[in-house]
Amino acid sequence: MIEYIKNVWLGFWTVIVGMRITLAHLFEKKVTVQYPDDRYPIPPNARNKLYLDPTLCNGCTSCERICPVNCIKVETLRVVPDDPERPMIADGSKRKLWVPVYDIDFAKCCFCGLCTTVCPTFAIKHTVEFEYSTYSRDELYVRFSDMSPEKIIEKKKMLDEFQAKEKAAKAEAARKAAEEKSKTDAKAETSPVTESKESN
Ligand code: SF4
Ligand code: SF4
Repeated sequence: MIEYIKNVWLGFWTVIVGMRITLAHLFEKKVTVQYPDDRYPIPPNARNKLYLDPTLCNGCTSCERICPVNCIKVETLRVVPDDPERPMIADGSKRKLWVPVYDIDFAKCCFCGLCTTVCPTFAIKHTVEFEYSTYSRDELYVRFSDMSPEKIIEKKKMLDEFQAKEKAAKAEAARKAAEEKSKTDAKAETSPVTESKESN
C-alpha cells in the first residue's frame, strides 16, 4: 500500500516539475520567430543566392576560372571597333567583349563566394535570397545574360565579317611584303654583275 501511495505521489510530483518548467519558459524572451511571416535580418556578408548584373560584367571570365565546382559558364564575343552599339560598362569604361552566355548552375554551387571575391567590377554578388528550392533541377540553372538570341546572331555576324576583313588585310599585307622582298632580292642578285661589267 505504501509503495502504491509513493508511486501516485511521484506521478503528481513529476507533473508539477514539468509544469513548472513549462510555465518558466512561457515568460522567457522568445528566441524563435513565426517564419515565414517573421524573419531575422540577413547579415550583409551572408553567402546566399548569387546575382549577376550584366551591365557591369566585362566578360573577363575570372569567376568561371576560379569556381571550384565549375558551375559558371561564360561565353564572350569580341566587340568590333565599328559597332554602332559599342556598349559601355556601368563604371564608364568601354566594353571589349559581349557576354552572350553567363549561366550559373545553382544545383552545383557550394556558395564559397570566390567568384564574388575575384570579380574586378563587382558584377557578381550574393543576395539575401536563401529560399530557392524547386521541384525541377532545370530551374536551378539560371541564365543571366541580357542579350537576346537575335542580338547574339547579329553580333556574331558582325564579328565574322570583321574577322574576314582582318584576314584579307593581313593576307594582302603579307603578299605586298613578299613582293617587296622578291624585288629587293632581285636587285641584290643583279648588282654584282653590273659592278663587274663596269670594271671591265
Ligand atoms: S559561390 Fe563558389 S561555387 Fe558558387 S559559383 Fe561562386 S565560385 Fe562557384
Ligand atoms: S562576373 Fe566579374 S569576374 Fe565574372 S566575367 Fe563578369 S566581370 Fe569577370
